[in-house]
Amino acid sequence: MPLIAVVGRPNVGKSTLFNRLVGKRLALVDDRPGVTRDRREGEGRLGDLTFRIVDTAGLESAADGSLEARMRQQTEAAIAEADVVLFVIDARAGVTADDVRFADLVRRASSPVILLANKAEGHAGRDGAYDAYSLGLGDPLPVSAEHGEGLGDLYDALQPFF
Ligand code: GDP
Ligand code: MG
Repeated sequence: MPLIAVVGRPNVGKSTLFNRLVGKRLALVDDRPGVTRDRREGEGRLGDLTFRIVDTAGLESAADGSLEARMRQQTEAAIAEADVVLFVIDARAGVTADDVRFADLVRRASSPVILLANKAEGHAGRDGAYDAYSLGLGDPLPVSAEHGEGLGDLYDALQPFF
């Protein structure tokens, strides 16, 4: 079963996406101390694809060190393990400085990346999704984790990894 990591700065909708893909099949909450404290892993499903999926908490994690170091550590660990990375931005907010920092981490790793412009329901989101081209992580897929939109395109993007 492929392992998918959901990464990005706080508040872009990573956990909402994780919850939508995992539903009630949450397998375990990893409560080891340190950077993995807030890590959640479950068995996700999208159409006929089943996968392991890891949600990351970014700034919410409680390790020692600067905020930036914590973001970096947790994201790097998740990316290193993953077969494919879902890099999430908030299409309504556009690309922020934190997004650019996360994107740099993601780009440095060799793991394949799918760029998701979340909160893209309605027109505001569509416009914001174009902004995401500037991250240099390929074509952004507009999705709405909350409303369940764009998941067909996510399915198509994930299928090659199965
Ligand atoms: P995380 O910090 O990246 O895990 O983000 P969360 O999943 O906790 O979501 C942060 C906020 O964005 C919450 O208030 C969510 O309800 C909201 N949110 C998540 N997905 C969407 C979406 O597709 N559209 C809109 N409008 N809001 C969303
Ligand atoms: Mg979260």
